[in-house]
Amino acid sequence: MKTSFEFFPPRTEKGQKTLAQVRQELSAIQPEYFSVTFGAGGTTQEATLETVLDIQKNDSIPAAPHLSCIGSKKDEVIALLDQYKKANINRIVTLRGDVPSGMRDIGDFHYANELVEFIKTQYNDHFHIEVAAYPEMHPQAKNIQADLQHFANKVSAGADAAITQYFYNADAYFRFVDEAEKLGVDIPITPGIMPITNHTQLVRFSNMCGAEIPKWILERLRCYENDLEALSAFGTEVVTDLCQTLKNQGVDSFHFYSMNRTQPSLDIAKTL
Ligand code: FAD
Repeated sequence: MKTSFEFFPPRTEKGQKTLAQVRQELSAIQPEYFSVTFGAGGTTQEATLETVLDIQKNDSIPAAPHLSCIGSKKDEVIALLDQYKKANINRIVTLRGDVPSGMRDIGDFHYANELVEFIKTQYNDHFHIEVAAYPEMHPQAKNIQADLQHFANKVSAGADAAITQYFYNADAYFRFVDEAEKLGVDIPITPGIMPITNHTQLVRFSNMCGAEIPKWILERLRCYENDLEALSAFGTEVVTDLCQTLKNQGVDSFHFYSMNRTQPSLDIAKTL
C-alpha cells in the first residue's frame, strides 16, 4: 500500500522540533513521500523551502513541495524550482491557491493548468507533477461538469497524478474517478484523507474548501465536543472505515492530511 503525508511548514522552533519527531515516527511505515504546503501568494515560501530541504537532507523519505501559483511571476517560480531541482527533489504538488484578500496583481498564472504546462515546458519530465482534484466539486466551480473538464485540462497539460480534497463519502470519490476516466483521464487519483480530531476546526476547514461532513458524522461530533477522547476514537473509526471501503474497491494509495501530528494518521495508515 502506498502512503504519503502532508505537513504545513512550522512557524516556531518548537513546531519544527515537533515536526521532526512526527516525521521520524511516520517514516516507520516507509511512506512514498512527505509533502509540505505553500501559502498562496508566497506567504510561507521561505518556511516551505526550509522544511522541504530539511526533509530531503535528513529523512529517508523524499520531500515534495507544494507550489501555488497565484500571485507569482514566472521568474520567481523558476528561481524556486531551480533550488528544488538542485536539491534532487523531483515531485511537486502543483496548485493555483486561493487569492489572498487585498491581492491586486495575481501574477503570471490564472489557473493551475497554466503552472503545470509551464513546469513541463521548463523542466520536461524532471518533476513528477501532482495536481488537486475535487470529488465534491471545487467551491468556486460553475458546475461539476466544468470542474471535471478543468481537472482534465490539468492532466492534458502534463499532470502525472492527482490528490483529492478530503471527503467522507466514498461514492463521491468513485463517481469522480469514473467521470474523469470518461473524459480520458488515465492518471492515478489518490484520495486525500483528513483524520477527525476536532469538531470546530473540521467544520471551519470544510466550509472553506467545500468538503461535506455527512449529518450522521456531524451530529456525533457535536455530542462529543466536550469529550475529546471519545471524539477522537469515533473519528478514527469513521476514517478507518472510509479507507477500508476505498481499499476494498481497489484503491492502493492514500495521502494523509496529517496536521503535523503522528496520530491518528499513523494508526489509520497501519490498518491498510
Ligand atoms: P485550479 O485547478 O486552477 O482550479 C481552481 C478553480 O478554477 C476551480 O473551480 C476550477 O474549476 C476553476 N477553473 C480552472 N480552470 C479554469 C478556466 N480556464 N476557466 C474558468 N475556471 C477555471 N492551497 C494552497 O494555497 N497551498 C497548498 O499547499 C495547497 N495544497 C493543496 C493540496 C491538495 C491535495 C488540495 C486538494 C488542495 C490544496 N490547496 C492548497 C488548496 C487549493 O489551492 C485551492 O483549492 C484553490 O482554490 C484551487 O487550487 P487548484 O490548484 O485546484 O486550482
